Amino acid sequence: MLGCLLGSVVGDALGVPVEFRSREQLSADPVTGVRGHGTYDQPPGTWSDDSSLLLATADSLIHNGYDPPDMMARFLTWLQGQAYTPHGKVFDIGIATRSAILRYSQGAPAGEWGGREERDNGNGSLMRIAPLSLFTRALSPAEIVRCSMEVSGLTHAHPRSQLCCAYFSLLLPLALLGWPLERAMSQASRHLAPFVPEAERGPLARILDGSVVEAPVSEIRGSGYVVHCLEASLWCAANEPSYERAVLAAINLGEDTDTTAAVTGALTGAMYGRRAIPEAWLRALASREYVEGVCERLVDRIDEEMPRR
Ligand SMILES: [Mg+2]
Repeated sequence: MLGCLLGSVVGDALGVPVEFRSREQLSADPVTGVRGHGTYDQPPGTWSDDSSLLLATADSLIHNGYDPPDMMARFLTWLQGQAYTPHGKVFDIGIATRSAILRYSQGAPAGEWGGREERDNGNGSLMRIAPLSLFTRALSPAEIVRCSMEVSGLTHAHPRSQLCCAYFSLLLPLALLGWPLERAMSQASRHLAPFVPEAERGPLARILDGSVVEAPVSEIRGSGYVVHCLEASLWCAANEPSYERAVLAAINLGEDTDTTAAVTGALTGAMYGRRAIPEAWLRALASREYVEGVCERLVDRIDEEMPRR
């Protein structure tokens, strides 16, 4: 489980300096390890909103168990620059996430925080769902789906974003158990199927039937659209032989490099474990002890809870 959480933060940090670069730019100058500066002029190892929201979610689970409004309260303290940042500053935030947190802070009722329009399907809930996936891993598939959809909905309440989160939450526990990826994908898909409305079967088709892993790279995008992000992460995990290679491949797809790498890092971190993360990448991580502390506390909390569920 530690590999999954740290793998996500490390992937985010590696992708930050080249966020928004095109695939063409990156193929001329591919990322091969830790860099600094670039897009946001941050020091090497700086992680972004992806990890901030993942850590806030983890912290909420550690202190309060399953309590979605408490997660939202913590997202607000992050947005206000009071917690969950590597250097005390918020330098990157998705539009849908910002709008949702602002609605929350203005007193809107819980059902109205997350955007529900088709254009609200960015990858902003998928990038922070891993701690919840780990926390709910011993529950029934239907409960996993319900919790993931609710937690996605804090900021991303369109069914497409919610279903991508639910799929990922069904998949991660199987990856942790060492299932081969394609078998885990088909099991996750089978468990998700009863919850997929007709209108979402088309957009999610390549994920649900597993065919995305066989697509040529020209048909894989690293954009901020939640379906692109999940497809790209599955593709990198399936077509690269290690955590390290999958995360670099995710970044070098271009566009939303930090988030594609964060989601790919969570999945391949779960598949290959903590020791597959290059030590040099962990060493470079900003506020490394803090990040590791939060991740370790969540893993301890889950281990304590497991026998009771
Ligand atoms: Mg980011």
